[in-house]
Amino acid sequence: MIQALRCALAAALLLTIPAQAQDPSGVEPGQWLSTGRTWDEQHYSPMDQINAGNVGQLGLAWYADLATDRGQEATPLVVGRVLYNTEPWNITTAYDATTGRVLWRYDPQVPLRYGRLACCDIVTRGLASWQDAIILGTLDGRLIALDKDTGAELWSVQTTDTAQNYTITGAPRVYSADSGGGMVLIGNGGAEMGVRGYVSAYDADTGDLLWRWHTVPGNPADGFENAAMAMAAGTWTGQWWLSGGGGTVWDAISFDPALGLVYIGTGNGSPWSQRYRSPGGGDNLFLASIVALDANTGEYRWHYQTTPGEEWDYTATQNMILADLEIGGRTRQVLMQAPKNGFFYVLDRATGELLSAEMIAPITWATGVDMATGRPIENPLARYGTLPVMVGPGAGGAHNWNPMAYSPQTGLVYIPVTETYMAYAEAETYEPGRSLGTAFSGHDDVRQEIAEYADAHSSGWLSAWDPVTQTERWRVPYAQKGSGGVLVTGGNLVFQGTIGTTFAAYRADTGEKVWELPVQNVPIAAPITYMVDGVQYIAVNAGWGGGLAHVERAQFSQLFLGRPRLLVFRLGGTAQLPPMPAESFAIPELSPPPALTADAATVARGEQLYGANCAICHGNGARGGVKDLRHMSPETHGTFAAIVLGGARAANGMASFADVLSAEEAEAVHHYLIARANQDWGG
Ligand code: CA
Repeated sequence: MIQALRCALAAALLLTIPAQAQDPSGVEPGQWLSTGRTWDEQHYSPMDQINAGNVGQLGLAWYADLATDRGQEATPLVVGRVLYNTEPWNITTAYDATTGRVLWRYDPQVPLRYGRLACCDIVTRGLASWQDAIILGTLDGRLIALDKDTGAELWSVQTTDTAQNYTITGAPRVYSADSGGGMVLIGNGGAEMGVRGYVSAYDADTGDLLWRWHTVPGNPADGFENAAMAMAAGTWTGQWWLSGGGGTVWDAISFDPALGLVYIGTGNGSPWSQRYRSPGGGDNLFLASIVALDANTGEYRWHYQTTPGEEWDYTATQNMILADLEIGGRTRQVLMQAPKNGFFYVLDRATGELLSAEMIAPITWATGVDMATGRPIENPLARYGTLPVMVGPGAGGAHNWNPMAYSPQTGLVYIPVTETYMAYAEAETYEPGRSLGTAFSGHDDVRQEIAEYADAHSSGWLSAWDPVTQTERWRVPYAQKGSGGVLVTGGNLVFQGTIGTTFAAYRADTGEKVWELPVQNVPIAAPITYMVDGVQYIAVNAGWGGGLAHVERAQFSQLFLGRPRLLVFRLGGTAQLPPMPAESFAIPELSPPPALTADAATVARGEQLYGANCAICHGNGARGGVKDLRHMSPETHGTFAAIVLGGARAANGMASFADVLSAEEAEAVHHYLIARANQDWGG
């Protein structure tokens, strides 16, 4: 019935809209069919049953406990009367959207060793829907289509070379191809692990590969795949292909059916340090770029590189919103992005022309963007040597994967912004695929100074950004760094999870807080809204972890968290969360660390091993990360070897390191962590 209605509506609209393809979400505001709702990724819904006037009556309709105590980053989908959600390890569940009754659950059985390959937690950011299929990309690189009614596998295809360190955390997108069929776009991650980035398009009905586009050039001796790769190779030096190059398409993809263009956002370089990656410098195309490709063929059309020669993990994978704006007296078809590097870019999406770029947060790596050349005006001090230098933003970015949203009603973009700083230094050695070429330890006195400055000056806020004037209209500051993904609605409401373990709504025009509810955990994901039987609902996943946890969080690590959950709200909802557990689900109550018994040489050896093997997930100087190891419980200290070497917590994403660390080396890392915990305990 719904399917038939969709086809009828789409057919009716096709008569008046000259595009070959029609975004189904655009004609069904009650559903949420794609991760950004619409192909332009606005994270906007025109629905206004819940609005700034009555949002005070918003209450919990139902909730569902989530299986894994790790970062919950997914944007759910709603197709018909069913809400589809996906969790760490890609466990995917279909719920009755009105009651929360589980209709089916699917576990793709991702091998636990992939927990070690995911730089930023075992997360997933969402699903795609296409006719009778729900489509997911799994951490181990598979693309899987499920029957939306039963959860049975329709097809499954491996999109990556499993001998390499690829992972998938992003949501697939399905677009209508000119052929009339569906085309699934999927990227991958692994730029911290030595891979070469690419995006692939598959037939949504069969899983057959339609096209693939690499983002950085491979070994010239193998021949370049296309002219764009040959052109890009001129911007690299040395033997870059040995370290993969990076530029992974791990999140943002948008689509303009009228222009026939797919837009991809590309990630950081592999390794981070440019001296190890491309010793003679160069722009290193297409790292940290927005690239437009022909949707039917995957052929390169244009690009804009946000951070030439990047070496700070400044990905341009953050969501790209397409909209039409009045700029300088004419309507421009624009693409908007706030990548990690701290600028907000407005591009002409037909040509790639840079229209404007301004800072959304204090940053130190650049002072602005030269509009004549389109290039950043870099601070030369930001290009680091072996002595740590402080650079803002840090690798967490001024804006990370947490989706921003755009309201055509207010003309504003709502951005979760973080002000961060981080110590960057070049490593003494580099091993392709095993390290970043960037040091996370050494020069402890300098690092400590930088960490103190970062703690004192970091913060987070929700920003309402005017993309035409490139100025902030209002902001909601948060007591601590970071905040969740955003939904904006036609009810003049912005919904967002807060770092204070609440879910809140603000007036979209003024930023006035009009509703807030404690939810026992941090909703870092983007909310959605949908309508079934004439009732509008708001849904969001609440679960701390992921990339946001990489922002150093000395204060936050003491926050008391409840169970991660999917939360669904409606006007007059009366459901109640169970009381907070007596003991925190996520972070054990803090215990004093054990006394340091090792000598300085062992601690130094442990520090070096930590920097090479652990820091990518557990943070610079063991601060923050997916788990703050300065705050290990007595039980964790007691079973350290079983965890690190025996894989005792592999199901939580902590796979065994027995293949790279000896028992003695693991013990040295443990002593280093005990030393760090004692340094900071009580401080
Ligand atoms: Ca990265």
